[in-house]
Amino acid sequence: METSDLSVAADAVHAVNPWVALAYLAAGVLFILALRGLSSPATSQRGNRFGMAGMLIAVVTTLLTHLPVTKTGGCAWPADCGPGVHWFDGVTFGEILAAIALGGAVGWIIARRIAMTAMPQLVAAFHSLVGLAAVLVAVAAFLNPGAFGILGMDGNILTVSRVEMALGAAIGAITFSGSVIAFAKLNGNMSGKPILLPGRHLINLGTLVGIVALTGVFTVAANAGPGENNLFWIVLVLSFAIGFLLIIPIGGADMPVVVSMLNSYSGWAAAAMGFTLHNTAMIVTGALVGSSGAILSYIMCRAMNRSFISVIAGGFGADDAIAGGEAREQRPYKSGSAEDAAYMLEQAEKVIIIPGYGMAVAQAQHALREMADKLKAKGVEVKYAIHPVAGRMPGHMNVLLAEAQVPYDEVFELEDINSEFAQADVAFVIGANDVVNPAAKTDKSSPIYGMPVFDVGNAKQVFFIKRSMGGVGYAGVDNDVFYLDQTMMLLADAKKMVEDIVKNLD
Ligand code: NDP
Repeated sequence: METSDLSVAADAVHAVNPWVALAYLAAGVLFILALRGLSSPATSQRGNRFGMAGMLIAVVTTLLTHLPVTKTGGCAWPADCGPGVHWFDGVTFGEILAAIALGGAVGWIIARRIAMTAMPQLVAAFHSLVGLAAVLVAVAAFLNPGAFGILGMDGNILTVSRVEMALGAAIGAITFSGSVIAFAKLNGNMSGKPILLPGRHLINLGTLVGIVALTGVFTVAANAGPGENNLFWIVLVLSFAIGFLLIIPIGGADMPVVVSMLNSYSGWAAAAMGFTLHNTAMIVTGALVGSSGAILSYIMCRAMNRSFISVIAGGFGADDAIAGGEAREQRPYKSGSAEDAAYMLEQAEKVIIIPGYGMAVAQAQHALREMADKLKAKGVEVKYAIHPVAGRMPGHMNVLLAEAQVPYDEVFELEDINSEFAQADVAFVIGANDVVNPAAKTDKSSPIYGMPVFDVGNAKQVFFIKRSMGGVGYAGVDNDVFYLDQTMMLLADAKKMVEDIVKNLD
């Protein structure tokens, strides 16, 4: 192709039909409304619908702009192309539909089969795919720049496109390898404990500096020679490595931040992809996901009293002594039955329920709501206390309680309810553990040290539902609450135990 043809091709590919721009704008507005709706449980369903409508508009518009077009003459909408230009040469509309059908079918099957408790690892797995897609788009653009309309008059890849391509490849690769490690940790294929390599901060810093420097050189490199090729691939390999290195030292209480941080990275990867593909909707959506994920990570760090920079720098400041875990000693505790618990709950004036991961495992939320309804009918005040990192993903408990139609005005966040335990007759801990562990306040060597926790020990009585004394929480540490004078351990599956309590409340 002549260089003048190339610039015509670039201009044509970059031209945006006003209707397409308008449709993408509408999709962007719907995404913003979706985020706004998702900020509260009461409006979250509406928010989801806005998001679905926005995504439908974005996908249909993108599909229409890629309908096969004639190769000659000025072609009309949907594809505003110049003479001799065929968008996405070699890919037919049928092939695009086949890819959507295949991906949609796989996603549908996985989403239907997945247990709610396995959602965090599923989210991590999906994030890894976004990262991989960004890498593949960048690689495709690098190997075949003509097809992406990113060649300049001199026949070389445009400088701005090199920046987009390098960023897309780097962020995508970091997202991919980081998400794979997060998946392995959350899925139990790897220990959840931090893996602290000697000299890791130096290695990480060196790798990051290398990525930035080589990206800079790649961006200003003038010729598409073998040296430049190597730079691109080296940046890609280093980015895969840094994603891995950044996530392995994070563990214990910091994993929730990792999940939301990878969510943010996947958004930036999608935005970078949007630049390479000249797709405004993708840029807007990616930026929204990227920024909202970053804000969520920041909020979670504040809620857990962690430094945002320390966590994203890969466990910077993590104490090496923490990684080892600890031996558990046998200590005396009191245990009780569903009958005992029901009797005491009926006598209570105020009960605060603290749900955690075990409630999700047992799917005990419906039985729990039934129990709360019965207690309320007997004049007992019932409140739910939700910790920002309870469960295995942000908002995990809120989703489950909403599913069981627990009224929103009975659900309180940590800072709003923690002072009320002193007035509570019963702190009803159901499948929670780390989020009520006082070691977070008292034991500097604990992996959860510094995380704010519920002061359940201030309540007159603590009922603690878990399956056995042997099981520990995500952070893998013992909990002094089990052994308090006022604690009654209710050792059973959470759903079974609550159902039995409900039977005894009649
Ligand atoms: P934990 O993981 O600390 O504790 C779960 C408890 O549930 C254990 O005591 C376990 O004991 C019990 N349990 C498990 N299954 C059942 C069952 N079927 N019936 C009854 N009990 C059961 O949960 P928390 O919610 O307190 O804390 C969340 C932890 O997960 C935090 O450390 C957080 O940092 C981490 N995390 C959170 C993420 C998030 O985004 N929210 C993401 C990743 C990690 P037993 O086995 O004896 O039954």
